[in-house]
Amino acid sequence: MVRELGKLDFKGTWQYAAAPESTDHVQLGDRYDLFIDGDFVAPAAGKYFDTISPSTEKVLASVALSSNVDVDRAVKAARGACRVWGRMKPAERGKYIYRIARIIQERAREFAVIESMDGGKPIRESRDVDLPLVAAHFFYYAGWADKLEYAFPGKRPAPLGVAGQIIPWNFPLLMAAWKIAPALACGNTVVLKPAETTPLTALKLAEVIRDADVPPGVVNIVTGAGETGAAIVEHSDVDKIAFTGSTDVGRQIQKALAGTAKKYTLELGGKAANIIFEDAAIDQAVEGIVDGIFFNQGHVCCAGSRLLVQESVADEVLGKLKDRMETLIVGDPLDKNTDIGAINSPRQLEKIESYLALGRTEGAEMYQSSVAVPDTGYWCRPTLFTGVSQSNRVVQEEIFGPVLAVQTFRTMAEGIDKANNTPYGLSGGVWTDKGAKIFHMTQKIRAGVIWANTFNKFDPTSPFGGYKESGVGREGGLHGLDAYLSLG
Ligand code: NAP
Ligand code: MG
Repeated sequence: MVRELGKLDFKGTWQYAAAPESTDHVQLGDRYDLFIDGDFVAPAAGKYFDTISPSTEKVLASVALSSNVDVDRAVKAARGACRVWGRMKPAERGKYIYRIARIIQERAREFAVIESMDGGKPIRESRDVDLPLVAAHFFYYAGWADKLEYAFPGKRPAPLGVAGQIIPWNFPLLMAAWKIAPALACGNTVVLKPAETTPLTALKLAEVIRDADVPPGVVNIVTGAGETGAAIVEHSDVDKIAFTGSTDVGRQIQKALAGTAKKYTLELGGKAANIIFEDAAIDQAVEGIVDGIFFNQGHVCCAGSRLLVQESVADEVLGKLKDRMETLIVGDPLDKNTDIGAINSPRQLEKIESYLALGRTEGAEMYQSSVAVPDTGYWCRPTLFTGVSQSNRVVQEEIFGPVLAVQTFRTMAEGIDKANNTPYGLSGGVWTDKGAKIFHMTQKIRAGVIWANTFNKFDPTSPFGGYKESGVGREGGLHGLDAYLSLG
């Protein structure tokens, strides 16, 4: 977390001048329609809902609420476009995807600001992490469009048809890119539903897709609530469902798809262990713990929400971690000095606060930074629990907020046992000076992604996905192509 310049106040505390990102270049309409068949169209029932900024609680725009009729219309448009898109020369398809990537790069500042306004994440993260990764995903998959037979030698890769894609609110535009880019590269068409609290950047992406002259119907964006997602899942003319979200909804989708011919990938929750060995570079590890759990307010499926620290260095690590937590700035997502932005919605804040109460009821000791938070908006100070046991719910369940459960271990075997002892298996982190230990841990920890001496680093070339209740299938890299092709 790199800060902009500040100055020392009279008490010798470092004060940061407020540095709000300009919103001059942001153009937001009052009302957003559905993007179907290349046009923005009003929802059949004429209903709209508001999307708010979680930091100001103000309405940003009203957004179309799709009904089954709208979803059906979008699926029909996508089916119709399969003929054009699926049969287009792969190199031509690639050109459109490259064009999307370039326009996103040109409009990156605007997208970053809207992402922070609608979802609450700090501008430094949307600007420096999300947007570059969004463009990188489109560039990466554009490159695959005409190389699919090299990716799967001896096979005859063919598109699946219409992909229904449902995404969460924590990385709205990035999740849209993860879904749309590989689907298009493989010749599929798309009906995508963004989350109810963060629809705006997906609708802005629709503008980009239109401006890139992508043929009508290839990408359709339908906004709405959970029912809209369910209507996509249940539509009989959808060939594949790609879902990222909670394990609960993932389970419902899996049940709804059982016995159908639809292919699916489910990217679900996590409760990752970030494991610090005594031989780790402690200061770097502390930064990694902070990044692991406080990045994006902890609204991260692969967040390092469980700290496992070797007993011999536990006091040192915890002392340094608490000091560091005191320096984290919580507040205006559009301020470039902000480290932790707004909690995405009142509903999510309520969920996090219920876990804070639960942790104390379970007998854990709670430590919260004393940082000031704004009066309006939804906020949670960086928090950690010590004195927890493996069976505590704050250790087992995904809180999806800036809340860390801290445990210790003595031997490597104990660390591995504790790391694996949750229903999830999405990610993990290992901090040590010893390469052999890293390789041993990556073999033993059952998680789709394991970072060594770093955390929360993403790259389009790298597959991402979970074991156990963290999901089914992989996105990203070559594996991400497989999920959108039939390989006859
Ligand atoms: P969620 O409640 O499961 O919602 C995800 C998406 O599904 C939203 O668009 C939601 O619409 C929609 N939805 C809700 N009910 C549905 C239903 N019955 N059928 C079809 N779609 C439905 O999850 P969330 O709270 O938005 O996101 C947080 C969760 O996502 C966390 O558990 C996190 O770990 C997980 N996540 C996983 C990954 C990964 O790659 N593994 C990445 C990011 C997040 P509404 O918004 O309108 O309700
Ligand atoms: Mg919002």
